[in-house]
Amino acid sequence: MLSKRMENLHPYVPGEQPKDRVYIKLNANENPYPPSPKVIEAVRQAAKKHPEKLGLYPDPDSNELKEAIADMLNKSGGVLSRANLEGGKKNGSGAIVSPSEFDKIPFVVTPEMIYAGNGSDEVLSFVFYAFFDSDRKLVLPEHTYSFYPVYGGFYDIPLAKIPLKEDWTLDKEKMLETANSEGSGIIFANPNAPTSIGLSRDQVREMIKKAPADKVFVVDEAYVDFGGESCIPLLAEFQNLVIVRTTSKSLCGAGQRLGYLVANKELVQAVTTVKNSLNHFPIDFLAQQAGIAACRDAGYYVKCAQNVAFERDEFIDFLREKGWFVLDSQTNFVFCKKDGVSGEEAYKKIKEEGILVRHFATPGIEEYLRITIGTHEQMQALRAVMEEM
Ligand SMILES: *Cc1c(COP(=O)(O)O)cnc(C)c1O
Repeated sequence: MLSKRMENLHPYVPGEQPKDRVYIKLNANENPYPPSPKVIEAVRQAAKKHPEKLGLYPDPDSNELKEAIADMLNKSGGVLSRANLEGGKKNGSGAIVSPSEFDKIPFVVTPEMIYAGNGSDEVLSFVFYAFFDSDRKLVLPEHTYSFYPVYGGFYDIPLAKIPLKEDWTLDKEKMLETANSEGSGIIFANPNAPTSIGLSRDQVREMIKKAPADKVFVVDEAYVDFGGESCIPLLAEFQNLVIVRTTSKSLCGAGQRLGYLVANKELVQAVTTVKNSLNHFPIDFLAQQAGIAACRDAGYYVKCAQNVAFERDEFIDFLREKGWFVLDSQTNFVFCKKDGVSGEEAYKKIKEEGILVRHFATPGIEEYLRITIGTHEQMQALRAVMEEM
């Protein structure tokens, strides 16, 4: 009864969401903080003042949301943890946000450069459909976001998986060599997952310069707000660059399913064409309202990102003191292992104590744990468990 196509499907396995007991959840890189109070208020007011809108189709192109996203990027420079705040409440809500000198974008990001969708997973799926073919291998790192290979199977796009280097960084030379011999595109997360380390903007620039100019080059910036370097400024130099971002991590919004991409207008148009051929109304009315309110209160999320970055650095110090090997992280998670402690056993032991972290059985990374940074209290609880390991 199944179609031939089904043979190519190897679905993504998300971090577990158990129901048997209440765990401290540090396994899916969600943000431990609630959304801005202004988001809660916006959703409440939208439902209260405009109940009829729940019975009508939402704006298919999320125009107001795209304006709010563009505005937030211009004001923050696209890296919240480094943005400057002025005024506002103690939690950053209502503050005036300006970009750090380093992150300043040398042009104005306009709404025409934004495409918004139902989580960046959906945005990525449309990117695969719009830009990559079955006749050549799309280049990606061997260890990166595990949804990319899933879409490769779904859309019948063959992949060239390039091993990471000894130090867990991307093998840029090998990736470029393969992309040029295939005449194909490239995709990776920057900072990368599950390694937590990233390339600098200058390094990405050098890469794009040497990659096929007629193929799309995708940089997934899901984690950049926690301390990476955004490639948005490079859009002024390259017509083939697509930057995918999400509200799930740094905008405390995994539950509302909102992702977006930033690229030149023509590429945004292409993805919009895919959307209009598949899921015309990807973002529901309430999620649009939540996203707009979140972008307009960027100051709150600057504080959240700074808190996460602070907790992360403290946690890395702790782990290293205890003899763990930990990569320097620019994200809201750490990638770590300890000699003599198996990754799987460490994961199980931590779970027994009521805390979920992520362990991958994937060859090459099975000795490691990927641990999401939580609140100060959550990290204290985790430290108490890991102290004895
Ligand atoms: C979490 C994550 C996503 C997915 O984000 P959603 O917007 O929740 O679908 C995409 N890319 C990377 C690298 C991620 O870690």
